[in-house]
This record gives sequence, structure tokens and C-alpha cells, in this order.
Amino acid sequence: MFDLFKIGFLTVSFFDILDIFLVTFLIYKLYTVIRGTIAAQIFIGLIIVLLLSFLAQAADLKALGWLLKLITDIWVIAFIILFQPEIRRVLVMLGTSPLGRLFLRGGGYNLADLLTETAFELAQNQHGALIVIVRSAGIKGVVETGEIINSRVNKNLLRSIFFPRSPLHDGAVIIKGNVIEAARCTLPLSQITSFEGTPLGMRHRAGLGISETADVISLIVSEETGGISIADKGKIIRGLSKETLRNYLLKNTKITREKGLRGIFEQFFRQK
Ligand code: ATP
Ligand code: MG
Repeated sequence: MFDLFKIGFLTVSFFDILDIFLVTFLIYKLYTVIRGTIAAQIFIGLIIVLLLSFLAQAADLKALGWLLKLITDIWVIAFIILFQPEIRRVLVMLGTSPLGRLFLRGGGYNLADLLTETAFELAQNQHGALIVIVRSAGIKGVVETGEIINSRVNKNLLRSIFFPRSPLHDGAVIIKGNVIEAARCTLPLSQITSFEGTPLGMRHRAGLGISETADVISLIVSEETGGISIADKGKIIRGLSKETLRNYLLKNTKITREKGLRGIFEQFFRQK
């Protein structure tokens, strides 16, 4: 009924075209996700194995065919193991796509929102703060310089930590996933001492310094000006608005997003 045209004996329908577009889109997305990673090479390796086994079958090379068939028989499992990080990334991407976010809204736990609100409340009271959000590997050495907290991230706890008369307010808080790992940590200082003509104080240099040496984002609230900055990969961005900070955190903290999803499941099951 949705038939569009015929090529010889083939009838091409609207759904065939849609199908082709969807597959093209998926392959393109897959390509953009794995481009430049080791996965791309593994992928090519897999294709070569498949091709060889096809050729071996066609030329009736029994022993080679048998060997390659062994590999292709377990390829589904091998695929999942080899591409585990990429599969996770794609699923996280799906979960945080506009469609996925429909489910995430409505009281779900969201680290980006929570940290943005905390930062702006601290800034309003001119309470300085330095929060390090760990993206991939932990920074054990730095955590050990402070006091272990190991608590779920929580706005009032963060505000209490950075309250100027609190014994924990000095130094940096380390957050990994949705857990505050430690407070009062000492960070390595950056060698950079000024940014766009204005001198950088110790708090800003410390936040910048850790972002140069580890895969983290530093969120810095200035005590002097109430300004909010981010340091990431050795670059500092100053004077962020609520919206830009929130979007930056959403976009640039992969772990945050995964844990955000997981956080919702955890919350869901705890309430049951
Ligand atoms: P602000 O704008 O808030 O004044 P700043 O960049 O000017 O920030 P300072 O005024 O020097 O920085 O802030 C000093 C605070 O920075 C200290 O009280 C301490 O909490 C924090 N700090 C200094 N050095 C480090 C470090 N190596 N690691 C972690 N935190 C540090
Ligand atoms: Mg200062």
C-alpha cells in the first residue's frame, strides 16, 4: 500500500526507504562514537575475519574455514567484551538524548542541577568553594590529603563544608560519581598565575592545577567576587551563568550522566 516504485521485480516501499535511512544513521552514529579510538581498529579486524571466513567457505578451504568459524561462532560474546566501553557510551548517549531525558525529568537525581544550585547559593553568600568532579580514574593521592567523607552528594552538606567557619571549608572537595569522597584536600597548584590580565589566587590556581594533571573538572566559587569558574583540561572559564554552568556540567561529565541514571534506579528501588 505504501509502495513507491519498482526496480525490476523489486518493489520499494516507503518503509524500505525509512529502513535504509535508519541503518545509515545508526552506522554513521556508530562511526562517530568509535572514530579515533582503538575500537575502530578492532572493528576493522572483525570485518577482516568475517571476510576471510566467507572467502574460506567459498573456496572450500576446510581447515581455515573451521578455524575462522570458531572465531565467528563466538563473535557475539567477543563483540560485547571488546566493545563494552563503546556499548556503554552509546547506551548513555541514548539515555541522555532528548527522548531519554523525558524519563529523567520529574524529581530525578541530577548532579549537574544540584552542583549548579549549590555553586550559586555559595556565591550569593560570598562563600568560597573548590569542587573537583572526577570524570574517569580516581585521584587517590589527592583524596588522601584530605578528610574522607564518602557521602552521597547533597546540597546542604556541600554548603556546610564550605561555610567559612566550618573545620572542613579549607581546600577542595572531591566528587566521584554521585559521592563526595573527601573534603579539605590539597591540590597541585598550576604554574599559571594570571588569566586575561587578572591575577589568579590560590583557589583558582589549585583548581586549574588539578585539571592539568587529571581527568577532572574543577568548579570554583570565588570568595572575593562571588564569580563562578570552571577549569577543565588546563583551561579556565570565568564568570559562568547558571545556564552555561549547568549545560557545561551536563555535557562534560560522562560519569555524572551514567550515575545520574543509576541514581534514579537506586532511588526508585529504595522507595519501594
Ligand atoms: P577567591 O576568589 O575565593 O579569593 P583566590 O583564587 O583568590 O580565590 P585565595 O584567596 O588565595 O584564592 O584562596 C585561598 C583559599 O584557596 C584557601 O583558603 C584554600 O581553601 C584554597 N586553596 C589554596 N591553595 C590550595 C590548594 N593547593 N589546594 C586546595 N585548595 C587550596
Ligand atoms: Mg583571593
